Amino acid sequence: MICLPMCHSSAFARSLLHAMVSTVTLLHSMESATRTITCPRPGGFVVKLCNISEGAGLVHAQALALQHVARVAPELKVPRVLPSKVGNVLEDLVENGQHYPLLVLGWLQGDVVGERNLSPDQYRDLGSTIGQLNRAFRGFSHAAITSRELSWNTARFNPSEEDLARLAQHDILRIGQIHAAHSARIAPVLEKQPAQVLHGDVHPFNTLLDAQGAIAGIIDFGDLIHGPRLLDLSNALADCLLPGQDMEHIMHSMIAGFVRHVPLEEQEVDVLLPLMRARLALTALITARRRAAGAAVTPQIAALDSISLDVLRQLDGDSLQPTIRYAANFSPRRQTVAQGILDRRIQAMGPKPLLFYDQPLHIVAGESVWLTAADGRRYLDCYNNVPHVGHANPQVAEAVARQMRTLNTNTRYLTEQAIAYAERLKATLDPSLDTVIFVNSGSEANDVAYRMARCWTGHSGMLVMENAYHGVTDVSDAMSPSNYPQGRYDKPHVRQMEAPDTYRGRFRADCQDVAVRYAALTEEQIRELAEHGHGVAVCIIDSAFMTNGIIDAPAGYVREIAARTRQAGGLFVADEVQSGFGRMGTHMWGHQHHGVIPDMVTIGKPAGNGYPIGAIITRAEVLARFTAESGPFFSTFGGGNAACAAAIAVLDVMDQESLVSNSQVVGQYLRDGLRGLMAKHPLIGDVRGAGLAVGVDLVRDRSTRQPATGETRRVINALCDEGVLLGSDGKAGNVLKIRPPIVFTSAHADIAIAALDRVLSR
Ligand code: PMP
Repeated sequence: MICLPMCHSSAFARSLLHAMVSTVTLLHSMESATRTITCPRPGGFVVKLCNISEGAGLVHAQALALQHVARVAPELKVPRVLPSKVGNVLEDLVENGQHYPLLVLGWLQGDVVGERNLSPDQYRDLGSTIGQLNRAFRGFSHAAITSRELSWNTARFNPSEEDLARLAQHDILRIGQIHAAHSARIAPVLEKQPAQVLHGDVHPFNTLLDAQGAIAGIIDFGDLIHGPRLLDLSNALADCLLPGQDMEHIMHSMIAGFVRHVPLEEQEVDVLLPLMRARLALTALITARRRAAGAAVTPQIAALDSISLDVLRQLDGDSLQPTIRYAANFSPRRQTVAQGILDRRIQAMGPKPLLFYDQPLHIVAGESVWLTAADGRRYLDCYNNVPHVGHANPQVAEAVARQMRTLNTNTRYLTEQAIAYAERLKATLDPSLDTVIFVNSGSEANDVAYRMARCWTGHSGMLVMENAYHGVTDVSDAMSPSNYPQGRYDKPHVRQMEAPDTYRGRFRADCQDVAVRYAALTEEQIRELAEHGHGVAVCIIDSAFMTNGIIDAPAGYVREIAARTRQAGGLFVADEVQSGFGRMGTHMWGHQHHGVIPDMVTIGKPAGNGYPIGAIITRAEVLARFTAESGPFFSTFGGGNAACAAAIAVLDVMDQESLVSNSQVVGQYLRDGLRGLMAKHPLIGDVRGAGLAVGVDLVRDRSTRQPATGETRRVINALCDEGVLLGSDGKAGNVLKIRPPIVFTSAHADIAIAALDRVLSR
């Protein structure tokens, strides 16, 4: 590489090249032996001394193509043609009687992507840039390009016997099948697809990133061809994949970016995967051919055939097809769940199955925030809070497996894992909450908490939130009005508090002292419990107010309720099954979000990432009174080694990946995006919540705020068809409940927002 002073006069370049042509570096272009001199700095340039065998026509076409892009899409970062002083885009360099067309281009600043792994946002940005470029070429044509025959043209994929013979037998077979499918099915479809001039060779070594990681440019327009417009996308996709990567994410992001600018037709979408295979096969074949011919290649190019063949093997089968269709805005029709499995379920598990979605999903695998159905389709899980640090989290799975192979016993022995986990939990809580009692589930934790509170207070009454859910045992069911059909809830020792709903409730957000006003309503229930001889043993609140439609309880409300509970002689229980472990973003625990110190904390679901574990955390004196009155407390599985190993691994992952702040940042991003849809979709009445507990209140009329219950159900089913899973909550079932694993990222949020936008646009 030779650095030259800033200058682009053709006379200068000519004399310079005369002097230096023997030391000019060869570009690692596989097709043409173009020679370049580069001056790599802002304001610098690239001098291309082009392969004479290709003729001046193609170089001229390249220059005109770049000028066309600069005119119709000036925002696109592609090299600019620097004409000579006399205004020519090409100059003619004569050397030893040979004529060399000489093209000078402006230097584009940036680092090549190369073998870097990009984030989903960056892949989307890349797909979008390719789409813009593809679109910009629509109005351009040039005879030299239209008539060009290029061995890289995947639309004409036709490998020779000689090329194939250089590969291993299984690869020959695979490529043979790809070729047969191409001739029989793909080529006839391609002939009917929109065709145009294409860059044709966008790959990670032709793509530049700026210092912020944004796509800073596409370079190397030496392979311009005329062909199906889809090739720009299929070639780039094939070239971006590396063995072992999460191909679905990359493909989803790039395709979604591309179709923003170039919406594809359904037939194009159906041939994308076969065209990617053709590109990979061609890369392998041409690399092997060049190696056999003794061509000088860089180490990156030398490895291309084995990489391409590896990726090709991973693209066997059609399991990526649903992802491709989904990313290209063709929601794949969900295969009807095999009736057999539904029948078996009813036979084995009873006639009234509680199942999500009108058309139930048969899920067979999970990974991070994705669930895979039996038909191979992947769904973005925006709903499940149990796999807190992601479905099938390898760290948790490994911790459990290791522990199961070593020891899984109970807390009647001195066991390291239970003690260690109790210590880790305590470290996140107020020092007064110094004692951890292990059980198996949230229901049990609430049940035992109540029994302890009865001993401590001598009372039996409960204060619960209207429409609350706290579990399935006799006690926790009594705490759960939402378990009962309207008007059928009748528990003499329980009183319901009015939910502090500042959107639809009796006191709205603009009301003064709204927290105190709502809390003051509780006085009546406290009085009634006293009058009937129950008194208040516990007041229990889910800090996320999930079943109340993820309402934003006014600041100070929970503190106010806790104070009134204590005044009545009761204990305040923070049920952290939903709101705990950073779900609400601001703090580790929901009660901390509300600025209150409870007498007891109960935990469950997310604690073990799917391995059952529950706990009550309270003061030592509360436990002491309980055991004094009812004997030592012990639950066989509570605090088992494997359960605690899982739970410790969850805390480790949360620390390593800063997931509390992730919940805060991504939750805010998600709410902002959802609020952005409000201008377009009047069905959205309110977007609220904290961290990754997000509620979208759907209304028939924004002024009356009438719940759009039926619509919500349809939206949830339609979103499922779009590959996005979420649920609903609230008394009227009209609040979209978005409560994903907290490893959810802004890229996932984008997918969910775009899907909701599409569904609401119908
Ligand atoms: N409390 C709350 C707030 C819950 O959401 C749940 C379960 N959804 C429970 C308690 C009961 O937990 P489990 O189902 O593990 O018994």
